[in-house]
Formats: sequence, C-alpha cells, structure tokens
Amino acid sequence: MGFSFHRPDTIDAAISFAGVHGEDARFIAGGTDLIIQINRRRLAPRHLISLAGLGLDRISETSGEYVIGAMATHDAVVTYPGFQHELIALAEASAVIGGRQVRNIATVGGNIVNASPAADLVPVLLTLDAVVELRGPAGARSLPLDRFLVERGRTVRRPDEILTSVRFAKPPTASATAFLKAGRRKAMEISVICVAAHLVRGGKARIAVGAAASRTVRVRDAEALVERQGAGAFHEAGRLAAAEVTPIDDVRASARYRDLLVAALVERALASCAERIGKANP
Ligand SMILES: Cc1cc2nc3c(=O)[nH]c(=O)nc-3n(C[C@H](O)[C@H](O)[C@H](O)COP(=O)(O)OP(=O)(O)OC[C@H]3O[C@@H](n4cnc5c(N)ncnc54)[C@H](O)[C@@H]3O)c2cc1C
Repeated sequence: MGFSFHRPDTIDAAISFAGVHGEDARFIAGGTDLIIQINRRRLAPRHLISLAGLGLDRISETSGEYVIGAMATHDAVVTYPGFQHELIALAEASAVIGGRQVRNIATVGGNIVNASPAADLVPVLLTLDAVVELRGPAGARSLPLDRFLVERGRTVRRPDEILTSVRFAKPPTASATAFLKAGRRKAMEISVICVAAHLVRGGKARIAVGAAASRTVRVRDAEALVERQGAGAFHEAGRLAAAEVTPIDDVRASARYRDLLVAALVERALASCAERIGKANP
C-alpha cells in the first residue's frame, strides 16, 4: 500500500494531523530509518508527516546549556563549533553515522526516536544527562533521555508527540568526552558495540554503552567506581561495565566478543577523557 506525504506549515498543524490519523501516520525527518522500515514492510503508514521547514533544525546555546533541534543533521553536529572541545564525543559519534549522504539528511531527533540500541549518538547524550523536549496536543513536556528510552524501537513518546529538541548543560572546562565504536568494518557500519564516556576532573563520571542490550544503557556501578577511585580504576570499570550490561548474542557478534569489547572500549574511552582533560588543562 502507498502513503500520502504531508508537509504542514506549523508544528501545531503537524501534531493535530498526527492526532487525527493515529497509528496510520508517522512523522518523517530524514527518512533514513523510516523509509527502510517501510521498504522492508515492517511498517505501513498511510500518511507521512514531514517535520522539515518547521524551524526545528537549529543548534543553539545559552550561557548554561546547548539545545540541539530535533531536525539538526548529523553533519551539523559534526561541524558545530561548540562540539569541538569538551563535547567532541558528539562530533565523533555523528561523524561515523552512515556515509556522507546519510549524515547530510539524517537527524538527531530521528536517531533518538528510532530507539535502536545501536544508535550512535544516544550513548553520548546519555553521558551528558540530556533532556528531551516533546510537544503534543496537551502542550510541551520534558524528560530525561534515560527515561524516554524504553527498549529496542520503543520510547514513552505518544504517537502525536513531536520530539522538538534535546538539551544538556554546558560542561566545565576541566572535563572531557569520548566516543568509541566497534563494527565489522570501519565505515558505513552499524555498531557491534559503542561506548561514550564523560569525565569531570575530580567530579562526576558518566559511561554509556550501546548495541549491547535491548536499549542503550548507562553503567552506573562503573561510573560510581571511577568517581570514587579515579584513573586507577579505569581497567576495573571496564570489567564492571561488561558485567552490568550482560551483552546479547546475535548474528553480528557473540555475547563473549561483546563482553570483551565493552571492557576494552570503556577502559579506552575513560583513558581518552583523562588524556584530553590533561592536555587542555596542563
Ligand atoms: C546506510 C545507512 C547507514 C546508517 N548508519 C548508521 C550508523 O552508523 N549509526 C546510527 O546510529 N545510525 C545509522 N543509520 C540510521 C539512521 O541514519 C539514523 O538513526 C538517523 O539519525 C535517523 O534519522 P532520520 O532523520 O533519518 O529519521 P527518520 O527515518 O525520519 O525517523 C526515524 C523514526 O523516528 C521518528 N521521528 C523522527 N524524527 C522525529 C521527531 N522529531 N519527533 C517524533 N518522531 C520522530 C519517525 O517517525 C521514525 O519512526 C544508518 C542508516 C542508513 C540508511
């Protein structure tokens, strides 16, 4: 069955159209996940509601936080000046999503709402304690990304709610982030494991792991260990992280291989953060 393509002029018009058509309608951003699911007959929406041209594609900052519009592309994240230093993990993750053509059209909002456990930007956003902004018929609401994600392909978003943006606090100067991804090849590859870390000197540690379980997860025991013991605990934090996520076995990698990858990548991502903090704050 085919679908009708709609291009509303306002966010409210998009929401009310989605409210009228319910499960028969889907929002479409870049379409790089959605169209594949339609082609594979996993979804058969009768209406696609475009989110283009609604002013949701800006990345902005205030003195205290960054706000990434849901329609910002991965390419825009890669080149955004504010994401080249302490927040480089955002650029590192977006830079390895698909190829150039995909990054030019695929969006941050699509990466989040699609809720793939292998979505590369999601672990980075989790380590930044990001909050998602949603707008629906009842108005706007915001909630932590960690609570927005439920499991593979499922979030707490209602069908007529648009994810409008994702925001997070600006990190302190003596802090760093890192993103590492392992796949079966170096480019155009869905992660077998991806890991993000965020360290603040003498302060908080955040570590998140993607593609290991039914959703992207923070590994809180490993975080707490690093917060207590610092750099001396990076190796042990990797081991703890692997124990916390209990990786899956599937066609792309065995659970044992994923275990080894989680341990190694968590240790490396933490070491990379520590090195970056040291270099930028001698
Ligand atoms: C060749 C190829 C390679 C890829 N490689 C990677 C990769 O390496 N890493 C990776 O993480 N991903 C990869 N992807 C997946 C995809 O490109 C990303 O997840 C992308 O960010 C999805 O964004 P999109 O704008 O295309 O989403 P869409 O396909 O438009 O939407 C995805 C889902 O989210 C919903 N949606 C989108 N935006 C909103 C919104 N603002 N509010 C409410 N609902 C919304 C849609 O209804 C749909 O259900 C790849 C895809 C392709 C085709």
